[in-house]
Amino acid sequence: MNSIWHQLDQARTDLSDGKLCAIPTETVYGLAARFDHPEAILKIFEVKERPFFDPLILHIGRLQQIEELTEEFSELAEGLAKEFWPGPMTMVLKKSLKVDERITAGLETVGIRMPSHPLCLRLLRNLRSAVAAPSANRFGKTSPTRASHIREEFPDQNFFILDGGDSSLGIESTVLRPDKQKIQILRPGPIGETQLRAFLVKFELSHIEITTESSQHSPGHMKHHYQPAIPLVWSQRPVLSSSDLESIQRNLRVSNLRHKSLDLPRDAKLAARVLYSQLRELSQAPIDFIFFCPPLDAEGDWTAVYDRLSKASSLQI
Ligand code: AMP
Ligand code: MG
Repeated sequence: MNSIWHQLDQARTDLSDGKLCAIPTETVYGLAARFDHPEAILKIFEVKERPFFDPLILHIGRLQQIEELTEEFSELAEGLAKEFWPGPMTMVLKKSLKVDERITAGLETVGIRMPSHPLCLRLLRNLRSAVAAPSANRFGKTSPTRASHIREEFPDQNFFILDGGDSSLGIESTVLRPDKQKIQILRPGPIGETQLRAFLVKFELSHIEITTESSQHSPGHMKHHYQPAIPLVWSQRPVLSSSDLESIQRNLRVSNLRHKSLDLPRDAKLAARVLYSQLRELSQAPIDFIFFCPPLDAEGDWTAVYDRLSKASSLQI
């Protein structure tokens, strides 16, 4: 096994040579390419089978990189960056001419974040270039939170995977759009409304509103996403009645009704950390569907976990 320094070096060399490389982050693993290598950017879409209308997020290692990548960096955006970076927050900002339209799906804006995973941050700082990196999974499927998930997802690909252990947060970043008078939450994530509100109070910006967009307003937000290999059923009831089972059979068109339930820890942060690995594990079982019922004793902010689970569900009953 090569030392971590060799691995970092390989990741850096591959990215500089215009190859793809899977990178660990504190949210989920990403499939990265240098932002200024258009061929490599196209390859991300090809490998993931991702539609071109779904924009990629740029990852940076230093705040100064913002200058090269964006046209406008308001005081509010700078305040958010200083408060939450490195960390699980993506900001949607006006893009500069240096950012290729393929990255932004033709939009005038670009999503940018500085991840906090130490290995990833070191790689990005050594590289001295932003990388575009969507989650390292096939389009619409469950995001990977450990290196082995990526090997299983792409058995025919030979891009290098920088192994940084299990992602500590386990779900994708919060996507925000800071405006003059408001912060729009385009995708809920590990940084919730409470933290944003506390930030606004701390900097005497309480007049700024926080709005939650219906996900349809953000590009790349499909009704179905994050889907496990075995269909997931979201149920309001902890025990499935015979009419529930009938409805599942009819809607999912399954011949058997073997199932297992997704049991998440009641704390929202712990639930997020294990969510995707548990969905992957359950998908290996000889069952016809996975079943999830929100825990009655749930603690903390479940907004982001419920967002992912509702999109991952094939059926809600
Ligand atoms: P992922 O595949 O997890 O990296 O997710 C990237 C997501 O970030 C996209 O699907 C969009 O929802 C969001 N995103 C990226 N860039 C933009 C942008 N310029 N405007 C709005 N949302 C964006
Ligand atoms: Mg994704």
